[in-house]
Amino acid sequence: MHQNSFFAEVNKMFARAAKYTSHSPGLLAQIKSCNSIYHMSFPLVRDNGSIDVINAYRAEHSQHMQPTKGGIRYAPSVNADEVMALAALMSYKCAIVDVPYGGAKGGICINRQNYSQAELERITRRYTFELTKKNFIGPGVDVPAPDYGTTSTEMSWIFDTYRSVANNPLDALACVTGKPVGMGGVRGRTEATGRGVFFGIREACSIEEDMDALGLCTGLEGKRVIIQGLGNVGYHAALYLEQAGAKIIGIAEYDGGLYNPEGLRLADVVAHRKETRSTLNFPDAQNFTDSRKILEQECDILVPAALESQIRSDNVSRIRAKIVAEAANGPITSAADQWLIDNGVVVVPDVYLNAGGVTVSYFEWLRNLSHVRHGRMSRRREAHNALQILETVQGLVGKNFDPDTISNIESSLAFGASEADLVDSGLEDTMVGAYHEIHETARTHNTDLRTGAFINAIDKIAQGYLRSGIFP
Ligand code: NAD
Repeated sequence: MHQNSFFAEVNKMFARAAKYTSHSPGLLAQIKSCNSIYHMSFPLVRDNGSIDVINAYRAEHSQHMQPTKGGIRYAPSVNADEVMALAALMSYKCAIVDVPYGGAKGGICINRQNYSQAELERITRRYTFELTKKNFIGPGVDVPAPDYGTTSTEMSWIFDTYRSVANNPLDALACVTGKPVGMGGVRGRTEATGRGVFFGIREACSIEEDMDALGLCTGLEGKRVIIQGLGNVGYHAALYLEQAGAKIIGIAEYDGGLYNPEGLRLADVVAHRKETRSTLNFPDAQNFTDSRKILEQECDILVPAALESQIRSDNVSRIRAKIVAEAANGPITSAADQWLIDNGVVVVPDVYLNAGGVTVSYFEWLRNLSHVRHGRMSRRREAHNALQILETVQGLVGKNFDPDTISNIESSLAFGASEADLVDSGLEDTMVGAYHEIHETARTHNTDLRTGAFINAIDKIAQGYLRSGIFP
């Protein structure tokens, strides 16, 4: 494998953390290796009758827990090395947030802009058929989800194809997550990764001694943020950061970037892009035709949310952010990561920060297997209990609350927690808990957050293998 490969980069980060653990070399070698990779080629008959040969992949990195889980991306950069690296990151990510899966990743090597909707459907269905044939998909085997270049629409085609060819009608819904809500999806999955990114950044900014070291105050209010990639993850992260009082001062997209140190209103930028089909020429903002230059502007928090290797040796010394929050997978190369650490920049690592997607996918998978919406059986009961507590409190304090207060409390209690509330609370709890775990490990070993996250992941996966009894 080429030294600059993405998988080699992930393995360098693994090696950096493995030094702090006491596992045997054999167990460490098993944890980091990619167990299986399936490369397929198939013909696509284009709408005009010509034929394209499509190359696609699925990598299953680790089966220490089953099923394996990971997104599917549609991008021209997709290759075997990339899916192996992303599958490895999935194994570590799931372990960090205690989601009981091994890691996997899939990809189809296409630029989706070059294909019609009907062609994309044919490609997706054929890909799913090939995965089914080779037992690379299934509720207990390997469960894909959306990633770069895919949405809930592709997930619904995957489900429909799997359902029609696999002999598993009862649990077929659980063969893929990120489906539309009307088709077994869970409320909150679309925004989950960006929402998780927000929770992670919020936690990072809540620790006083870390903020003091950066010369920042705690909290998100007024923090200056630059976002690269306004897709699913970047848009939702920006939305929640803005709602919490942060100021979006720069946005980098593939066709150019915008910068205004006074702040850009996200809704206006989105409307502008929709209307003009371009990011550029937004009123009151400086245009950048080379959008990577936006990453080099001064800010408090830089959020790369597009693709890998965006911050590397050739531009890292010009990065002027105090915190880099890796919403995308692998946006910083290992050499650039070391430079940032050496220069006091806090890097919140991808392997933790974008785990919100797989966390909520886990809730969707559980819902599909249990065949019941989250909260369906407990909602009325919870509301009933809450009203009883309210009545008891009134009795204890010896006076009734005023009618408006009662009616406000009753109406918010009357329906208990909805599925969306439960998903959001499960996501917040997961992201908050995992942040403090990796922060604690990093502090104990006097190291950076990424190394802390990898140490936790390695320890948890090692426990999984040791419990299985395969390793002495
Ligand atoms: P997406 O396709 O919805 O959005 C990606 C955005 O990046 C698009 O708006 C695209 O135009 C933009 N972009 C492409 N090239 C760019 C460039 N050179 N400069 C600036 N912008 C560019 O994809 P997504 O689902 O938001 O995924 C983004 C990243 O997050 C990927 O690394 C993906 O692996 C990771 N991720 C996604 C999820 C998820 O649930 N979707 C989960 C975990 C990690």
